[in-house]
Amino acid sequence: MDCINQFSAKNPVKTETQTAFLEALQKTHIHGSIETEGHVNYVIHTTPWNLRCQPKPLALVYANTADDVAAVVKLAAQYGIPIQPRSGGHSYASYSLGGTSGSLVVDLAAMDKVVVDQKTWRATIGPGTRLKGVTDGLLKQGKRTIAHGVGLQVGMGGHATVGGQGPLARMYGLTIDHVVEMEVVLADGSIVRASATENSDLFWALRGAGASFGIVTSFTVITHPISTSVTHYSFQLTIGSPNDAATPAKLAAFFMKWQEFISSPVVLADRTFNSTIVIMNWAVLIQGTRFGTKAELEESEVMVLMNKHFENIDLKCRELDWVASGVAWETDVVYQVTGSLPIPMYMKSLSVRKDKLLTQEAITRWFEYLHKHAPGDTVWVILGDLEGGAISDVANDATAYAQRDSLFALTVYSIAKLPFPDDVLAFLNGMIDTVNNAMPDGNFGVYPGYVDPLIPKSEWPTRYWGANYPRLLKIKEKYDPNNVFANPQSVGNHLVSREGTMSAMHITPVA
Ligand SMILES: Cc1cc2nc3c(=O)[nH]c(=O)nc-3n(C[C@H](O)[C@H](O)[C@H](O)COP(=O)(O)OP(=O)(O)OC[C@H]3O[C@@H](n4cnc5c(N)ncnc54)[C@H](O)[C@@H]3O)c2cc1C
Repeated sequence: MDCINQFSAKNPVKTETQTAFLEALQKTHIHGSIETEGHVNYVIHTTPWNLRCQPKPLALVYANTADDVAAVVKLAAQYGIPIQPRSGGHSYASYSLGGTSGSLVVDLAAMDKVVVDQKTWRATIGPGTRLKGVTDGLLKQGKRTIAHGVGLQVGMGGHATVGGQGPLARMYGLTIDHVVEMEVVLADGSIVRASATENSDLFWALRGAGASFGIVTSFTVITHPISTSVTHYSFQLTIGSPNDAATPAKLAAFFMKWQEFISSPVVLADRTFNSTIVIMNWAVLIQGTRFGTKAELEESEVMVLMNKHFENIDLKCRELDWVASGVAWETDVVYQVTGSLPIPMYMKSLSVRKDKLLTQEAITRWFEYLHKHAPGDTVWVILGDLEGGAISDVANDATAYAQRDSLFALTVYSIAKLPFPDDVLAFLNGMIDTVNNAMPDGNFGVYPGYVDPLIPKSEWPTRYWGANYPRLLKIKEKYDPNNVFANPQSVGNHLVSREGTMSAMHITPVA
């Protein structure tokens, strides 16, 4: 069963093959530890960030080196056991625990070194490094940085193989756009390098769909000098009572205004500027940063436009240094929205393309839906995140990441108690369906970093990877024909029929 409401799922009864695999695994010589059901730490270490999705892995292997990873991959492949690596464990659907019970999890937390070459300013980063460690390591070794997301507990392994959107992305592109080389363990246990000149097809696939192709054990990235000051701005808009019949129209008007603002030539031209809109249980907040001083923000064209466009706003600005800015981004956006501790949550998203912005009608219908159907006792959040800039300088088919032409990501979340209520899942799905139906030619993609296990099988391949999907399938066939690296929405997995636990495409029994 995929992650619908798996919080109470027990470990399923093991098959003969699984039992034989576990016996063989205990005899494998690796540096890290192995934990299986019954091990003292198994329950704690298999508790995911999103408590709504709690698959039960067959085993957890803590790898210290690429050789450790290779040894267990080789063994699991022989037995047809699906594998997923875990770096920071921040998958929205617990895909690093396999996404469904019965997988082998290869934990990479110990592979967390950051080393900056002082001549080339290129850095090698271990996949288990959290974004906090990436920021600190690059700062300490030469005041350098890369573009990445705002959740500082997110791991480099899952982030730099799927995308990596964040405040610097409009200037420097996604995290994947910084990667020039990767060391990767393939399904046959071999350790290879992938770059523009070596295994270039694999390199292409690993930048947007990494979890389906191998386990990256080291990233080499280009870095940039940090900005010495960053100015954060925010202002709140008041809409009045949620029960007011005028509320949907007011929300729709605010959202439309924000969309007009971020798609204006002034904002499009200023890549140091970014903006998010947060609508949380009937309060609207617009916030973001501009790289540079407060005085520079105040003098910028974008600020002139913001004051004019939104009228009579109570704008708050604060100039921060690099480290304080990173912390502020996380506390302002991530903590406010989801918190840093494990929670039961569900999230959906859409990538809204520059040439297919939401129409007035779609926005109106969306907020009418919200007003009518929002469950009263549930926290819900809508987040719009400006993208574009350097992300869109790269062609949609230059890497597996297929949302390059998105102007903003629209995400909707809910946090609720367990058992996670069906009506909350239905509410969020209904909200996104309303937008989709009102924009039948919107052709919305979905960023696979905001993985959503409830997108139907007939849709997720193209929603996540668009026109890149056929090429991904070919590369999958070449590097992982037996579907060793699998989760419920990995490349090729819509072709696999599964009952109960997931089985590989062609399981090769051990001789
Ligand atoms: C609180 C929070 C905030 C977030 N903020 C942002 C943000 O600002 N911007 C953004 O773009 N995204 C953001 N995300 C999404 C995040 O980028 C993805 O969920 C990402 O995949 C998490 O990486 P991880 O290593 O922490 O997760 P994991 O759960 O360890 O892995 C996620 C997936 O990647 C695979 N994977 C992990 N390591 C490797 C590896 N070494 N090689 C190949 N595959 C691997 C896993 O098997 C799994 O399928 C956020 C997520 C959360 C929960």
